[in-house]
Amino acid sequence: MSALNPTAMEQGLQTCHGCGLLSRPAAGAEEGRCPRCDEDLHFRKPGSLEKTLAYLIAAAVCYIPANILPVMTTTTAGGSESDTIMQGVVLLWSPTGWPLSLIVLFASIMIPSAKILALLYLVITVKRGSIKNNAQRVRLYRTVEIIGRWSMVDVFVDTFTVALIQLQPLMAVTPGPGLFFFAAVVVLTMLAVESFDPRLIWDSANAKEIQDEVQNA
Ligand SMILES: [Zn+2]
Repeated sequence: MSALNPTAMEQGLQTCHGCGLLSRPAAGAEEGRCPRCDEDLHFRKPGSLEKTLAYLIAAAVCYIPANILPVMTTTTAGGSESDTIMQGVVLLWSPTGWPLSLIVLFASIMIPSAKILALLYLVITVKRGSIKNNAQRVRLYRTVEIIGRWSMVDVFVDTFTVALIQLQPLMAVTPGPGLFFFAAVVVLTMLAVESFDPRLIWDSANAKEIQDEVQNA
């Protein structure tokens, strides 16, 4: 047990994700159930790194068609035009429309890729047993978590844009296949954030502390 920062896991205690109760598993049982709300208890989210990595790879794969395929098709009397997210950003760029254009650029292109890269960095550093920049890495995870809650903003912006265009007579907008992949990226990155257990960041440092103590004893 590390002297400075003993973790609940080292003390044999488990937190319930359902009700927050801290309890000790019954004698003989490895990981128990919450005595208060009967939720399954784990010291760490099971298969956290593997699940996070799987969701990240799937998100990265979907990110490509999300950007290459058209997200919407605009039909007017003059014909129809299909636009990708990036073409939409360019299309929206005007003296009055630039804030909307920037929101779409950030929400659809920059934030999803930043989220995938940040989580990938966290998975790799934990897997390699890094003990450096722990506090910063936890802060990075929290930031990704907070931003994730706003990912859906883009869907609202797109809907709003479509509604505005629809108001013009003789014009119709239909969603393109890119939108399906974009929605998949949003959902998959959310699942990746949910699967990652930030407590893993501290486990390597604690394990090293214990090792040092054993060696010094
Ligand atoms: Zn509980």
